[in-house]
Amino acid sequence: MGPELPEPPEMLDVLIVGGGPVGLFLGCLLARSGGSFAVLEKRAAASVHSRAIGIHPPALKALDSVGVAGAMLEAGLRISSGIVRGETGALGELDLRLASAEFPFVLSLPQQNTEELLEARLHQLAPGTLRRCSEVKEIRDHGTHVSVVSEEGGERKTIQARFVVGADGCRSRVRALAGIEYRGDTYGDKYLMGDFPDTTAYGSAALIYLRRAGVVECFPLPGGLRRWVVRTDSLRREASAAHLAELVRERTGQYLPAAECSMLSAFEVRHHRAARMVVGRQVLIGDAAHEVSPIGGQGMNLGWLDALAQAPVLVQAVRQAGDGTHTRTQAARSTATQTRSALARFERERQQSAWIATRQAELNMWAGRPIHARIQPGRDWLVRRLLSRPIQPLLARAFTMRWL
Ligand SMILES: Cc1cc2nc3c(=O)[nH]c(=O)nc-3n(C[C@H](O)[C@H](O)[C@H](O)COP(=O)(O)OP(=O)(O)OC[C@H]3O[C@@H](n4cnc5c(N)ncnc54)[C@H](O)[C@@H]3O)c2cc1C
Repeated sequence: MGPELPEPPEMLDVLIVGGGPVGLFLGCLLARSGGSFAVLEKRAAASVHSRAIGIHPPALKALDSVGVAGAMLEAGLRISSGIVRGETGALGELDLRLASAEFPFVLSLPQQNTEELLEARLHQLAPGTLRRCSEVKEIRDHGTHVSVVSEEGGERKTIQARFVVGADGCRSRVRALAGIEYRGDTYGDKYLMGDFPDTTAYGSAALIYLRRAGVVECFPLPGGLRRWVVRTDSLRREASAAHLAELVRERTGQYLPAAECSMLSAFEVRHHRAARMVVGRQVLIGDAAHEVSPIGGQGMNLGWLDALAQAPVLVQAVRQAGDGTHTRTQAARSTATQTRSALARFERERQQSAWIATRQAELNMWAGRPIHARIQPGRDWLVRRLLSRPIQPLLARAFTMRWL
């Protein structure tokens, strides 16, 4: 008997790199369509860093289409309004029920729980497709398919796929290997945030304090907690929970039990945009394609909407390639042209959405910056006008990503 031949590499329709919220959701969408795919994730378990908490109505609708919104609604908390307070008192209240008839609220759910529920749903729909501890190292686009080399427990494996999707976050290796530029910058705005037991009397309302020294935001979380976010003049990495509680007390008069803080983080904010979302058979979605300031809570939602737009394009492209027309015929050429134009449309529309989300986040940050006492009455007047009855529905739609 001669030497054993190495097994030929596996061939999939789609390979998703990154099992964060966006990659997991795309996996659920593809599971529904019946093609072959896998999600490669380098981490052994879901990230425990507390990042996104806000899930907006368009994303809830998308999540509902793969049957996971129900579990999220059960685990989360419904924020139905945002109360805005100026230096001396209330400026108005944004009624989030005006944003959507189907999901008249923003759902608050820590990102870790969101990822756990998405992973559980993916496991139900397509068991074994999420491959943890698998880090993508190399990608080669052959024109007709891609080869992806990953490392799993020190072993290198090659998988072939018709398309590879980079959902591997803002430091995306897929993007780097494809040579796609990621343009952007760091804003001057810095924040300190922490989760504490809810000591306010505001129930399920979010609160925005537009103070002269800088904004304080606070959002209810499931489990009787609240997330407080305070704009600071510098990045306070060394700050303690007591420090954050003191800043909140100075600016709002609210008392926070510092000893019961369950999460504390200082962060700065950036914006970036990949020059391309599609190069050959490589596609970027989520933070790999665009990083938006988290003030306004849009990044994860934006990534889910990328996946929602991308899934049917991939499914169609794979079906057409596999229906027997992939010979050197006119039909094959027209299929390739259709795929290219669908991918180009996807890129154009999603880059436009990312642009809008970036500008909206910038407006949010601008409204929360420290302000001179002379200008503050003008800003308060403007905010009151924006929260007035005729403009409210528009504002509610903007704040819940209804135009993305
Ligand atoms: C403080 C803060 C608050 C936020 N709040 C909100 C909010 O309220 N609402 C909102 O919508 N967004 C919010 N965001 C943004 C949100 O967290 C991100 O937009 C979201 O995590 C992006 O998801 P993603 O799946 O694209 O990327 P990620 O979450 O970064 O996931 C990428 C995954 O890819 C994996 N990976 C990377 N490289 C490889 C590789 N080579 N091989 C295999 N796997 C790889 C990583 O391990 C990771 O699991 C917030 C962000 C911050 C920092």
